[in-house]
Amino acid sequence: MKFTETRGNDGVSPKSVSFSEAILGPMSSFGGIYSPESLPKLGHDFLEEHLNKDYKTLARSILSAFDIDIKDAVIDEALALYDQFDDCSNKACNPAPLVKVKDDLFVSELWHGPTRAFKDMALQPFGKVLSSLAQDKNEEYLIMAATSGDTGPAALDTFKNRENVRVVCLYPDGGTSDVQRLQMVTEDASNLKVIGIHGDFDDAQSALKSLLGSDTFNAKLQEKNISLSAANSVNFGRIIFQLMYHIHSYLELVRQDAISLGDKVYLDVPSGNFGNALGGYYAMKMGLPVEKILIASNNNNVLTHFINNGVYDISNASVIATTSPAMDILKSSNVERILFDLFGTERTKELMQALDSEKKYTLTQGELAQVQEIFIADFCTDDEGKKYIQEAFDDGYLMDPHTATCFKAYDTCRDQSLKTIVYSTAEWTKFSPTIANALTGETGSSDIDALKAIAKKAEIGIPDSINDLFSKKITQSVVISKANIETEILAFLDGKS
Ligand SMILES: *Cc1c(COP(=O)(O)O)cnc(C)c1O
Repeated sequence: MKFTETRGNDGVSPKSVSFSEAILGPMSSFGGIYSPESLPKLGHDFLEEHLNKDYKTLARSILSAFDIDIKDAVIDEALALYDQFDDCSNKACNPAPLVKVKDDLFVSELWHGPTRAFKDMALQPFGKVLSSLAQDKNEEYLIMAATSGDTGPAALDTFKNRENVRVVCLYPDGGTSDVQRLQMVTEDASNLKVIGIHGDFDDAQSALKSLLGSDTFNAKLQEKNISLSAANSVNFGRIIFQLMYHIHSYLELVRQDAISLGDKVYLDVPSGNFGNALGGYYAMKMGLPVEKILIASNNNNVLTHFINNGVYDISNASVIATTSPAMDILKSSNVERILFDLFGTERTKELMQALDSEKKYTLTQGELAQVQEIFIADFCTDDEGKKYIQEAFDDGYLMDPHTATCFKAYDTCRDQSLKTIVYSTAEWTKFSPTIANALTGETGSSDIDALKAIAKKAEIGIPDSINDLFSKKITQSVVISKANIETEILAFLDGKS
């Protein structure tokens, strides 16, 4: 399987690359990203064959259908990381259980990994694959990530103590939950550096971008023989591990006798950078019987307007802080891969360049109709989300504020009573103050108080991995202003900090 450029070729970047090359360097000509040239078809027979197979077997079959240039032994080790997820002590490992919440609504829980958010589903195996590639090439890689709270912990966890890879993670000091911050600042492996920034997530992200574009910084990395790579969700190495759970959750519905093989379903995805939804789109294109993909947003509802009206417009938008912060995003990078797949390189380049220069692009009526064949969208305000958290709790299901946005889309976007798979992207423990507020009315609680309040109300325990964070030693205490980031990183790379 080859990967090609979404915006055409500039005569410098390679036109087409292998999977491993796309992982090590995801960016292509004109600011585009590498995307699969074609998709394998996994029809009815494939689904039937995997009905009684476990998650890792399904994953292995999908990877081999993509014919990727990664050694079988590495793939096996990467997939074995799912064994540390919950419910994997027995031999039929299921890292992503499907829970029935209403007649037509089933929740696919994607947060049973080590850092309790869905980023682990892809980053766990991805970390192993990337580090093996770096070792094979005998090269040192630096991964830099700016995080609003979930990517950071998941990236640190997957790369800790891995050979040939170092990670620098920038987070906005005061801009994450206590649990998210503690998950980062208690990491003590020598190949990891966590840096708090005075400012918000946008400051952390723009600091990262200016560093990536800095000639002096890049020259210094070259001197040290270190290459840069990216672990964000434009990396296809993450997307490939995300299309699997869409197929898995469909098979779970069949196994639970909720549908027959071949019946259509809705996928309902809480969306930010659009990696999760893109995984669903590829699964559908590969033959999964999907009626439509519901795109759930919060008050940052650029995607809702795009899918309903064909206009992607961020010209007057600024990020609004919500109770589902992992979805506080305006520019959803993976939409580009949908444009490329539907409309080809020329049009994608034109639209993405309009977005860069005018902060806006508009689809033709015909193009919009193609998008609406697949997607339908709505957004959920914080107050509505709170109501959905309360209602689900009364029905016996405890969920986080990101998952709650899908319940709104479930209510407003469906025109048939088909079974619907809602993707739950975080455990309740990661956003406890918002949930405690919804369930008890309490406001302004710290994470630990909120965790206790929810645990009491729901009559459940706080998981050890979360509880232990509050007594763990803080090993990463650097909090600095943007101006000092470069010096701090170079000192870390020299082993001096
Ligand atoms: C990252 C994240 C999302 C958004 O997923 P995308 O793939 O970026 O659309 C939603 N919810 C949570 C909890 C997340 O961590």
